[in-house]
Amino acid sequence: MRYLLAAVVLFQILVVLVLPALVVRSCDSEGPLRGPSPPAGEDGLWVRVLVDPTGATLRLPLEEYVKGVVAAEMPASFDLEALKAQAVVARTCSVRRMRALGGAGVPGGADVRTSVEQGGQAWLSRDDLLDRWGRVDFDANWARIEEAVQATQGLIVTYSGLPVDPLYHSTCGGRTENSEDVWQEALPYLRSVLCPADGHSPHAARTAYTFSLTDIAANLGGEVGALRVAAGNRPFLQVVAVTAAGRARTVRVGDQMWRATDFRLLLGLPSTAFTVELTGDQARFQVTGWGHAVGLCQYGADGLARAGKDYRAILRHYYTGVEIEPLQTY
Ligand SMILES: [Zn+2]
Repeated sequence: MRYLLAAVVLFQILVVLVLPALVVRSCDSEGPLRGPSPPAGEDGLWVRVLVDPTGATLRLPLEEYVKGVVAAEMPASFDLEALKAQAVVARTCSVRRMRALGGAGVPGGADVRTSVEQGGQAWLSRDDLLDRWGRVDFDANWARIEEAVQATQGLIVTYSGLPVDPLYHSTCGGRTENSEDVWQEALPYLRSVLCPADGHSPHAARTAYTFSLTDIAANLGGEVGALRVAAGNRPFLQVVAVTAAGRARTVRVGDQMWRATDFRLLLGLPSTAFTVELTGDQARFQVTGWGHAVGLCQYGADGLARAGKDYRAILRHYYTGVEIEPLQTY
C-alpha cells in the first residue's frame, strides 16, 4: 500500500510539476516587462546565465548570449532570415526574464538558464559549438549566426507595447495551435495560423508509433484490464475532441479523459497531431510534426525565408498583431 501511495505521489509530481516544464518550449510566461529603462551606454545590457547542469553562472553581453542561443536552437544551415527571426525571438525571451528589466530571473539569482527542460533556452559556448560543428565548419556557421544577431541588434517582438512570450517549436505540420488549446491562457498573439512552408522538415512526414494497450495503460498509471472493462462497448482508446488546428485535444482511454498534450508526453509521442488505429492488443499512432505547435514554427520560418519573406514578415506571420521594435524604447 505504501508503495502504491508513493507511486501515486510520484505520478502526481510528474503531471503537476514536470510535464508543464516539458511542454513549454523555451519561453514560459513571466508576466509583462516592468521596471526602469535598460541602462544606456557602450556596455549595453548584460545577462547572467545559469549553465545547466554545471551550476556555473556566466555574465555575458546580451547580444553575445543571443548568438549562443540561436546557434543552439536552430541549425546554422537555415536561411539567414529565419536565423534573424530566431535571434529576435531569443532576445525577446531573454529580456522578459532579466532581473534588471523587472523580470523574475531563474532560481539562484541568474537571469536565464540553459536547460530547456527547466524552461530555459538552449545555449552553447564557442567551445561547445566547435565540438558540434567541427573546426572546418565553425567559421562559416558562426559568421552566419553573428550576421543574424547583429542585423537585428536590440530588436524584440512586442504586442501592445510589451514584449511577447515568443513560443516556438520545431515543426507544426501545416497549421499552428491557439495557445489555449495547449495551455490555459488565450494570448492574442498566439493564434492558430496556416504554415505553408514546413514540408521540408524531417518531422513533416507521418511516422508510425505502435504500443501495446498494456504499455499505454501503464504509461498512464493505470491497468489495462480495468480500463478495458471501463471502456465497455466503446473502443479502448479514442480521440474524442480536436483543436482548431485539427490536432488531438482530448483522448479517452477506458473511461478516463486525458488532455492530448499530457497524453502525448506520457507516451513519448512527438506531437498531438496524431491519429490512432486499434488492432487487437495494439494501438498504432500516425504522428506528424514535432513540438507543441504554438507560435513560430522553425522549419516553417526557414521555408518562408527560402520563399523570399524577411524576418519581420516571418515573425508577423506566426505572432498575430505584433510589432518588431527596439528594446531601447522601453
Ligand atoms: Zn509549421
